[in-house]
Amino acid sequence: MSIQRRFLWGGPGLNKKISWVKWDCVCRDKVKGGLGVPDLLRKNLALLGKWWYRFGDGVENLWKRVVREKYYGGRSEVDITAVEYSRVSKLWRDIIKIGGQSSRLRNMLVEGFKWEVGEGNKVDFWQERWAGDKTLRDLCPRLYALAVKKEGKVSDMGKWDEGRWAWHVEWRRGTIGREKDEEGVLEKALEGVKLKEGVRDVWKWRHEMDGKYVVKTAYVFLDSMESALEDQICKLIWCRLVPSKVAFFRWRLCLNRLPTKENLQKRGVQLQEEGMFCEFCNGVVEEANHLFCICYKTWLVWVEVLNWWGLESVLPNTVVGVAEFFIYELGRIVGKEIGSCLFLVVAWYVWYRRNAQVFREDEGIPENLLERVQVKTFLWLKAKVNGCVFPFHEWQSCPTECAKAVKRHKRMRKQFSKEAAPPR
Ligand SMILES: [Zn+2]
Repeated sequence: MSIQRRFLWGGPGLNKKISWVKWDCVCRDKVKGGLGVPDLLRKNLALLGKWWYRFGDGVENLWKRVVREKYYGGRSEVDITAVEYSRVSKLWRDIIKIGGQSSRLRNMLVEGFKWEVGEGNKVDFWQERWAGDKTLRDLCPRLYALAVKKEGKVSDMGKWDEGRWAWHVEWRRGTIGREKDEEGVLEKALEGVKLKEGVRDVWKWRHEMDGKYVVKTAYVFLDSMESALEDQICKLIWCRLVPSKVAFFRWRLCLNRLPTKENLQKRGVQLQEEGMFCEFCNGVVEEANHLFCICYKTWLVWVEVLNWWGLESVLPNTVVGVAEFFIYELGRIVGKEIGSCLFLVVAWYVWYRRNAQVFREDEGIPENLLERVQVKTFLWLKAKVNGCVFPFHEWQSCPTECAKAVKRHKRMRKQFSKEAAPPR
């Protein structure tokens, strides 16, 4: 994991660089505002879960016999966790640790399993999930407190009577008040379970219809518990028209994780006081909202871009605000993707010129930046959008018409694919 992290922020070199975004966030799915980098910890756990599942799936294999012989005294029905960690191999220890529930992730994985009861001689009546989604202890805590047998298998809590199973759970005294309500709940939960003589209890994975464990769905499930970033930010972060390095730039920009001078200082990088100011205007401390929106030099670029589209508007003074303006306001006319692409090209150029000035002492924002923006957007659209058949001078002189042509083309393709679809 640390190799992945170092590579993301520092490239193939060995130098340690600042990790600008928490690793948890990097591993989140793209729709949740992350980069969708596989989380090795979760992946490993999902793979171990497969062994955990297979040990309890009711199918007899040689490897299970070997494991039972080696660690469980050869007994045929065993509690997988009932063995000392120090006695078992590293791999088996990792597998049985799943049942130890010592971490949030393992807890989540275990909750994804449920017993399908056959004879009921393997499954703990109160502590394991087998009748419904909860354990009976969690479902009826008052009755659990009142129960005579707090440990015991499902098959210990009743008996066969002329081919029919009859439940018999004993209480320390008669039930009263809310305990009676819980009795009703328990009865209902047990009603849905039919014990079967001579049939093994088997593990089922709750997230697949057929109960079979699939590593991929287990990984997705473990990942699904991670919360998303604010919805507003998630929607802004991705744009399929731009190259991946620009998409990465945008992700950092919208999360305010670019190495602006203010951000560097917050992370303990010492900069000289006079070096803290905005490269373009030298007026205030450089931070993202100023650099990309408020600084009069960049503000002029935005205005020029809007004029190119025949628009005059007051722009918001935050990065997220300007991104939203381009995607949703301008996007109404030109389509969200083109709006988003335009925002990104300008922001990318501003950052590129800022770096040129810091590191190469180049001039900041050149006179012809608008033209460069026009060329770049044209090239990106040409590369990724099928309906982009107009020449560059048209894009330059009447972009709105070109954008409409792209929209029309997309609509037609949609219509065509609907008509071409075979009848059901
Ligand atoms: Zn400035």
